[in-house]
Amino acid sequence: MTEAERDIIRQKILHEIERLKPEIERLKEITKPVPPDDAIGRISRMDNIVNNSVNKAALSKAASRLAGLEYALGQTGHPDFGTCVECGTTIPTARLLAMPESAMCVACAE
Ligand SMILES: [Zn+2]
Repeated sequence: MTEAERDIIRQKILHEIERLKPEIERLKEITKPVPPDDAIGRISRMDNIVNNSVNKAALSKAASRLAGLEYALGQTGHPDFGTCVECGTTIPTARLLAMPESAMCVACAE
């Protein structure tokens, strides 16, 4: 992998991180428990519980993606970056651009 390719991937990771952070903040905000004395009524409370589980799932997904991206960002300076951790094959740059947090080649990921 060339230094220029590394830079492009680094930029891509930073961009994704910047996009995820406010999204995580927003999801944290909307998944906050509603105080029981809040008079939102029984139906809307049920609605709220359903939405909440969807949003909580989205939050945990976004949070784990962020952790993966932050880890990958640290790895971009590493000489082994872009090498599959499983088999040692060079991961195609296109794959790294699409999924910078992937530490495995397509074959090993499957
Ligand atoms: Zn592999």
